[in-house]
Amino acid sequence: MSSPMDFIPTRAAALARLEEFLPHAGRYAADRNFVRPGHPNISRLSPWVQKRLLLEEEVVDAARERWSFEAVEKFVQEVYWRTYWKGWLEQRPEAWSRWVEAVPRLRDALSAGQRSTLEAALAGRTGIAGFDDWARELVATGYLHNHARMWFASIWVFTLKLPWELGAAFFYEHLFDGDVASNTLSWRWVAGLQTPGKTYVARADNIAHYTDGRHVPQASQLASAAFPSTEPAIPKVAAWTEDPLWTNASEGRVGLWVHPEDLAVERGELSAEKFVAINASWPKPMAKKAGWSEAVANWTTAALHDGALRAGAHFGADVSAEASDDLAATLVAWARKHQLKRVVAYRPFVGPWLMEALAIESALAHAGISMVWRRRAWDTRLFPHATRGYFPFWEKVRSAG
Ligand SMILES: Cc1cc2nc3c(=O)[nH]c(=O)nc-3n(C[C@H](O)[C@H](O)[C@H](O)COP(=O)(O)OP(=O)(O)OC[C@H]3O[C@@H](n4cnc5c(N)ncnc54)[C@H](O)[C@@H]3O)c2cc1C
Repeated sequence: MSSPMDFIPTRAAALARLEEFLPHAGRYAADRNFVRPGHPNISRLSPWVQKRLLLEEEVVDAARERWSFEAVEKFVQEVYWRTYWKGWLEQRPEAWSRWVEAVPRLRDALSAGQRSTLEAALAGRTGIAGFDDWARELVATGYLHNHARMWFASIWVFTLKLPWELGAAFFYEHLFDGDVASNTLSWRWVAGLQTPGKTYVARADNIAHYTDGRHVPQASQLASAAFPSTEPAIPKVAAWTEDPLWTNASEGRVGLWVHPEDLAVERGELSAEKFVAINASWPKPMAKKAGWSEAVANWTTAALHDGALRAGAHFGADVSAEASDDLAATLVAWARKHQLKRVVAYRPFVGPWLMEALAIESALAHAGISMVWRRRAWDTRLFPHATRGYFPFWEKVRSAG
């Protein structure tokens, strides 16, 4: 058996962790808010689910097969939170682009005092019990419990008075499950932007209770109230759903692009297709562009490798996987070499992989090769419901059975 915090970047490890967690899923609702060493009371599946080494649908189905719906409703609800956040961001991509633009600008604008507060926060040297431990745990393990993420973000914003955008960047740099939608929108939620007027204020007694007394900050160390944040309204766009080109996608020589936003291509929508060649190359500039630590970049590269191996075996196709300085140019050269008419891929979600994807699409188009995007039925069905808050979304999910 693996040790509690081993996040091995393979689908086999994800399935093993799912099996290990399932007998405990019925206790999840009662125990999930407790933050305990090794995190035995939660699934710890997010690094794998975020890369789709394991599909949301697989997690939900496994929990529901093992338990009654009532017993695992809370757990299932949490799995759908990921989909909700993703669906919301697909319809308001500016929530991400504003964050990307803000991070370097806000870093440059910090006063000397704020800069030293930031340095203390990042190094776990603020003197606030709990907060300092979580800062170090995040960097050391690539993971934090949800409740610790909420407390940490709240203290960052309301006690340390640092910009939420820089806290979100710290999380995104180090989390193995780093996800543009869940991370950016959760930080916005804590800061009071996501649900206007609703902020999250961490309380010392709540931290002490849910850490079984391991972390007991002094109440006077923490801000007792939030302050409001406002922003110009974020415009709403239609979420991308399905490419009309898809109907004829299997004609001629077709290649598959595999990327770290969907690493179980042998399961589901694309699994019965025929691909003559697969490309799972790694764009070398990506880690710096996205702001990932070396550990996150290595984890993601290894996950991509695992996805590519399984895809190659499933489709019986030749797999190219090089480290590339220019992924779009690499894909064009690969498509030409294999005389491809089309390249198919799951469309990445709003975030750095979508930027990469659009550059690839444009480079292929210049070479006379079409890019065909797919989206899993799960996303196509659910994203349009993520228009308002989570609970109307969940009602739609529930009523659909
Ligand atoms: C400030 C902040 C930042 C966050 N950043 C990220 C992030 O970058 N990536 C990320 O995957 N999650 C993020 N989350 C959500 C959540 O904390 C993690 O998904 C969860 O802690 C993962 O641990 P787990 O797999 O044990 O979850 P469990 O509690 O076992 O839940 C099961 C699954 O449900 C999903 N899930 C659970 N809670 C949430 C949630 N609140 N939002 C979205 N999905 C959820 C995950 O896929 C998770 O694997 C963030 C939350 C906060 C408050």
